[in-house]
Amino acid sequence: MTDYFEVHARDGAARIGELRLSDSVTTPAVVDDVLADAGSLWATERELPDGSDDVLTVLPHRSLPAGSADEVRESFAVDYPDMDFPSAAVVTADTADDYGADAYVLSDAQGFVGHARAFRDNVIEAKENLPADTALMLSGVATPRNVSLLVYAGVDLVDETLARARGLEGFYLTSDGEYFLEDLDELPCACEACRKPASEFTRADAADHNANALRAELARVRRRVRDGRLRDYVEGQARHDQWLTALFRRFDQQYSFMEERVPVIRDSELTAASEESIDRVEIQRFADRVTKRYRNRFDNPLVLLPCSAKKPYSESQSHRQFQEAVQYRAHMVSMTSPIGVVPQELELTYPAQHYDSVVTGDWSEDEKSFVAEVLRRYLERNDYPRIIAHLPPGAYTEIVERVADDLDLDVEFTVSEHPTTTESIGNLMRTLDGEPKFTREEREHNVVKALADYQLGPDAGDALFSDVELEMTSRYPKLQVWNDAGVQLATMVPQYGVLSFTLEGAKVWRDSDAPTKTVEIDGFVPHGSVLAPGVVDADADIRPGDEVVVEGPKAFAIGRAEMGGRELIESTRGIGVEIRHVEER
Ligand SMILES: [Zn+2]
Repeated sequence: MTDYFEVHARDGAARIGELRLSDSVTTPAVVDDVLADAGSLWATERELPDGSDDVLTVLPHRSLPAGSADEVRESFAVDYPDMDFPSAAVVTADTADDYGADAYVLSDAQGFVGHARAFRDNVIEAKENLPADTALMLSGVATPRNVSLLVYAGVDLVDETLARARGLEGFYLTSDGEYFLEDLDELPCACEACRKPASEFTRADAADHNANALRAELARVRRRVRDGRLRDYVEGQARHDQWLTALFRRFDQQYSFMEERVPVIRDSELTAASEESIDRVEIQRFADRVTKRYRNRFDNPLVLLPCSAKKPYSESQSHRQFQEAVQYRAHMVSMTSPIGVVPQELELTYPAQHYDSVVTGDWSEDEKSFVAEVLRRYLERNDYPRIIAHLPPGAYTEIVERVADDLDLDVEFTVSEHPTTTESIGNLMRTLDGEPKFTREEREHNVVKALADYQLGPDAGDALFSDVELEMTSRYPKLQVWNDAGVQLATMVPQYGVLSFTLEGAKVWRDSDAPTKTVEIDGFVPHGSVLAPGVVDADADIRPGDEVVVEGPKAFAIGRAEMGGRELIESTRGIGVEIRHVEER
């Protein structure tokens, strides 16, 4: 239970929070100014502090060095009473638990910061065991260079201790490195402390600058988190230090920890600029859903196409030419690095229309293997009467040949030199001679079902929509789905490429065989939003951004989750679900 910390926004494990002191502090932040340490119990027995709403009081504690034996930890464990002022408890990953505090300080941070594996293990264990709506603090470890990664891993609070200490030792810290003071003939910064000639710059000035640089970096990180773009930044930032690169990769290996926290939809762009981009949750999740949930419903041949820099693909010059040649006689699927394969029905679905990558045509071996693996799984799951590859020579063609060999499939190649030459387009057109066209109705129905598969689970599209005579109004991509009784079930949201349901659609979903994500609430009728304290239970597999059914003794509603399932259950503050439609019971 926390009264003094609230999470307002999430970007993976990183969050924008509010430390609700008399002057509230937006986190992630340095908290030196608002921290009161009641002291260590090693020196003396201490009275419980009186506390105050002005500060975050660190309760009396016994810190143990990193690596202390379990028995030692247990015998020195401190009982933390539940306080009615803002409080922080000192724990280790092993002793992390709900002590009723608003924040938790990991006492052995200095032992694991600098060691990627130990850092990952400690922080993840702590975060799994601490209540989701409390703040996590690491003390004595933050620098301008590492703090974006600390936040990326889920740290909310830090202090200036290390940055200042390094200054007093003669080190000048920046977000990309550190310098000996005496090596600087010019100060690479314009902060208050740096407004003097390098020759007059003292170690005390360096301490001030380092603290300023840490605060500036945190401001940049908060902006990134609000924009949902911290990952893009840390992919570059991690390169400035070996252990940060290692740390970043270690976290990518913790797929379930990250996946639980990364929203399923976002409207910000995703920049795939490094080889690590393949490993990010959004990319892996899309590939996973396309190959495990999505199913092709067209009877036509498959045409594999290269991606375009412009998104959605169908609005690009090249894809317009392909479309004209294909004339609804084939199912168009684009191949792309680093997303994998994108069936035409999912071209708007996050992150298919949101990613931006460097289009050089030169793919690394990792990229080729990834795209080949996705294509292989895709073709194992989906049967086509014919497979046509309208792809440029090089990586694309190599991948298709590799997969066709593996699966023993026949592939017809239609490109000579380049996919958009008159000759190539002519080949594509001719090779589809005699193939029947699908109708606009078929196309639209298949889009809606594909979105349901992708969003809700395998076969969800059929489970929801096969028994009803679907009627569509308005044009793609703003499809509105109605049943034959004239009741609207859902709308396609073009900016994320997902379905949002009406109340009637929510009932169809709930009563179908498709897995439903449900948030159970207390006996009230939510208007606008459901706050976390009103949540009684929630499905653990709910992710931020998921469509959820909300049910309680007094209400039935449909909306979008603002936090994940675990957070919905554990949180005592914050918006849990934004409600779209509600009816009283
Ligand atoms: Zn400065």
